[in-house]
Amino acid sequence: MKLKVLVVAGDGIGPEVTAEASRILRSVAELGGYEFEFREALIGGAAIKAQGTPLPQATLDGALESDAVLLGAVGGNEFNSLPPDKRPEAGLLQIRQALGGFANLRPAFAHPALAANSPLKPEVIDGADILFVRELLGGLYFGEPRQWDREAGSAWNTMRYTRDEVIRVARVAFELAQKRRKKLTSVDKANVLEVSQLWRATVTEVAKDYPDVTLDHQYVDAMSMHLMNTPRSYDVVLTENLFGDILSDESAVITGSLGMLPSATIGGQVNLYEPVHGSAPDIAGKGLANPLGAILTAAMLLRHSGNLEQDAAAIETAVRKVLEQGYRTADLARSEKDKKMVLSTQEMGKQVHETLNEIIDRRQAMHAV
Ligand code: NAD
Repeated sequence: MKLKVLVVAGDGIGPEVTAEASRILRSVAELGGYEFEFREALIGGAAIKAQGTPLPQATLDGALESDAVLLGAVGGNEFNSLPPDKRPEAGLLQIRQALGGFANLRPAFAHPALAANSPLKPEVIDGADILFVRELLGGLYFGEPRQWDREAGSAWNTMRYTRDEVIRVARVAFELAQKRRKKLTSVDKANVLEVSQLWRATVTEVAKDYPDVTLDHQYVDAMSMHLMNTPRSYDVVLTENLFGDILSDESAVITGSLGMLPSATIGGQVNLYEPVHGSAPDIAGKGLANPLGAILTAAMLLRHSGNLEQDAAAIETAVRKVLEQGYRTADLARSEKDKKMVLSTQEMGKQVHETLNEIIDRRQAMHAV
């Protein structure tokens, strides 16, 4: 098993959390006898400082030559006065577009040990385990024409999808549902929007190829309410770009902290893996960042680019165990008891690393019997 990974740590807490995620990946490679090759490249503010551009050509070339890209986060207050196309965030948008991933996967999982961290009642979120599949390259964010005509005092955007764009992302969602609880909820606004009518008709057509998956359709407004009332009733949720942006952020309340959320963008030339959070300049360099979102992102990398399901699941189990043992980073510590168990970024990474090694050792010992 060979895997070429480009690590683009970026800014703020990006380097801190990707260091822990990389450590986990190296350990999986060593214990599993896999050949992972890691390279590092600059992006965002770090690249602006070193090379005057948020996405140097060498980074883009390195990304396109890799099997997977692991990104930390970009952005920093010192760059806020730059024009939008020169800012660190421009580098992120450019790399996402160049890699061509159209399906953004965002799991929202209720960790039992963190039930008290969610504003929702524990009995509501208990057992919630949702995978959002958000279309990432179409819809309102990219549709033309778009304009703000200041003189006329009018502005417009265009929500547009082609049938093929819907088919390709729907197939990703159905295939993922087949590997999970075989339930897919497609979200649209077909009672009002023609684009949604195309979306619904196309998803219904694609569903015929996946008879083992139960499909239902929900309007986005109703869905935003059901998601908070009955999060447990969802398995895979398929949505277009704008609805997915909003609903997947809403679902973050199930998990309880931004620092816990992983993501993967797949379907393009090279898959891109990044925790959902930003560069968190307020806590950067202090060892306060929660590395678990980045570590769970590493698990997604193994699952979707390495086809290493067992190792991905082992990382997720290690994270769960460490949380069950009571270990917390500062963002997760709510109670007095939690506050006594607060670890730094590195210490949390080490804790997961040690637990993971035990899990893999035990698995290998069982295989050897
Ligand atoms: P943010 O996600 O960086 O931080 C929001 C809040 O959550 C902060 O209080 C931060 O301390 C906390 N937080 C975030 N990640 C955490 C972690 N792993 N552990 C503990 N606490 C964590 O969002 P923001 O403050 O709106 O943006 C800061 C910068 O990041 C901006 O420049 C923004 O443009 C950029 N940004 C980048 C990305 C990305 O690279 N994908 C995403 C969002 C924001």
